[in-house]
Amino acid sequence: MLDGRGAVVTGGSRGIGRAIVQRLCREGAKVVFNFATNEEAAAEVVRSVQADGGQAHAVRLDLADPDGPEQLMETAETHLGALDILVNNAAISHTPTPLAETDTAVFDHVMAVNARSVFLTTRHAARRMRDGGRIVNISTLNTVRPAPGIAPYAASKGAVEQLTAVAARELGPRGITVNTVSPGATDTEMLHAANPPQAIQTVAGMTPLGRLGQPGDIADVVAFLVGPDARWITRQNLRAAGGLA
Ligand code: NAP
Repeated sequence: MLDGRGAVVTGGSRGIGRAIVQRLCREGAKVVFNFATNEEAAAEVVRSVQADGGQAHAVRLDLADPDGPEQLMETAETHLGALDILVNNAAISHTPTPLAETDTAVFDHVMAVNARSVFLTTRHAARRMRDGGRIVNISTLNTVRPAPGIAPYAASKGAVEQLTAVAARELGPRGITVNTVSPGATDTEMLHAANPPQAIQTVAGMTPLGRLGQPGDIADVVAFLVGPDARWITRQNLRAAGGLA
């Protein structure tokens, strides 16, 4: 389905990004992904893709660095030859803190990793992606149901959703679709680091489908959106959350 396509996935070493890299490679795409520090996890993803007969290349890059996203895109183009798919997945959360006690530095760092990097990779894609390409940005249900204490994270994801909307308008004439996928609680290190086990159980219990999301649940939605069958879908926010809204 994605044979001959060149794809960039941010944050492919763990969690949802790892599942996206593996799924796109299984569909025949050649994928470049970045990681921040987890070299061994990234190498394991590359090995798993190769064992399946696919091609993936990992780059160590901090997306908080103002030059990081552009460096990722340039490295990717060198490896891929052409850019057809961009999945902006990497993000960080933070310790929930009331607004009154939230440091400016936390806000700035979260915005840099979660939102500015999306602006920069998308700007690169707007200049260089082949016509008919695909951009998918990963947001969160927290923009609809924001929990107290997560102002920087929720604000960063609000920005991502607006970048999706504007990019979809601008790039549509070239046949490039731009969509958001918003996961609900998904079983990754980010979820477990930010929430006590009891809270995670409660969310799973409130979910109509009766469980937490798994990374593969989100990767399958992304694979649909970057594939040929989603050619008429753009500027949407697809909530992949087991019915939690
Ligand atoms: P995760 O398990 O924490 O993985 C994060 C990935 O991003 C890793 O590959 C990590 O690399 C990379 N990364 C983190 N900081 C980076 C930085 N400064 N520069 C470059 N790369 C960086 O996260 P996840 O749960 O899979 O989340 C993936 C996406 O889904 C995020 O956009 C998140 O907001 C969204 N989401 C998650 C949930 C959930 O419940 N899990 C719910 C809603 C939305 P290293 O391995 O090197 O650290």
